[in-house]
Amino acid sequence: MQVPLLDLKAQYTRIKKDVLAAIGEVLDSQMCIGGPMVKELEEKVAAISNCKHAVGVSSGTDAILNSLMSLGIGSGDEVITTPFTFFATTGCIARVCAKPVFVDIDPKTYNINPELIEQAITEKTKAIMPVHLYGQMADMDPIMEIAAKHNLYVIEDAAQSISSTYKGKKAGSVGSCGCFSFFPSKNLGGIGDGGMIVTNDDKIYHMLFIMRNHGSEPKYYHKFVGGNFRLDPIQAAALLVKLPYLEDWSQGRRDNAEYYNKKFSGTSVGIPYIDPNCVTIYNQYVIRVPKRDEVFKKLKEQDIGCEIYYPVPMHLQECFSYLGYKEGDFPEAERAANEVMALPIYPELTDKMKDYVIEAVLESLK
Ligand SMILES: *Cc1c(COP(=O)(O)O)cnc(C)c1O
Repeated sequence: MQVPLLDLKAQYTRIKKDVLAAIGEVLDSQMCIGGPMVKELEEKVAAISNCKHAVGVSSGTDAILNSLMSLGIGSGDEVITTPFTFFATTGCIARVCAKPVFVDIDPKTYNINPELIEQAITEKTKAIMPVHLYGQMADMDPIMEIAAKHNLYVIEDAAQSISSTYKGKKAGSVGSCGCFSFFPSKNLGGIGDGGMIVTNDDKIYHMLFIMRNHGSEPKYYHKFVGGNFRLDPIQAAALLVKLPYLEDWSQGRRDNAEYYNKKFSGTSVGIPYIDPNCVTIYNQYVIRVPKRDEVFKKLKEQDIGCEIYYPVPMHLQECFSYLGYKEGDFPEAERAANEVMALPIYPELTDKMKDYVIEAVLESLK
């Protein structure tokens, strides 16, 4: 049997007619930049995120970049974040010439450990950027408390966690702003790159809005240097078709996770820990196993798609060597990088496929 990590064709087959019709509508209108579908998607994503505003952008990466630029973060500033994340989180901080400052993760949730944040704050700190990894929100209450005390912005990297909750609050609605990605492998994935920023703050919204379009206001008058961060209307069209399914798809992932959890309980497989304050959307189902690389290899041999998110923490990336971190600085992030692996969790998985994966994992551990 073959079980891919993700099967986008299975999803597409069910919505193909509607996606093609929606794209046709954009083409017929020849509104090739912006237009009503981008606006409609912004309104709908703002609504499901319990936020007042949303700004469609070209990718999750540009959502983070635009957020940093719009908050005026740049040279001489420091941004506190997790070393255990996708590159874009840290890459954007470096691209605005600010300094990424890492603190270690909570080994259970893999998210930033709020207890370690305060000691990393200096007079240069401007923001905290928690990442809601694998679909589960970070422990936001203590993060917001620290941010309020030190007058810091909080940018939520919610690229993997659209519509997940923490104490009933939606991802993206807690901090100064929240960043989503519509990369095809995310729970709400486009047919190419796309992203969105949500916020409840009118002033931040205004900056995000104008920075998306070269900082111009009015047209051809530039008080700020922004970029071309616009969301493609063809992406908006496809995403509008997919959005009504998001809740069902995320529930399908949770059901699959429960299925795995039951079969892995009482074995040496470390199953995902979900904070009782959180509802996860399981963008990834990540297990912790001894001899991870061996297990990984054995699964691949049996045609099971699996992946390591992420094998090298950010403080050990070559491009960040100038920051002066070394091995051993963030032991929990480093341990996670050596022990975690993601299994197929997409909603269209059948019981047979899950059983095949479970058996292969358990067999590989014998
Ligand atoms: C996917 C992702 C991003 C970047 O999103 P893109 O749309 O691929 O640019 C940023 N941060 C995290 C945590 C992600 O998973």
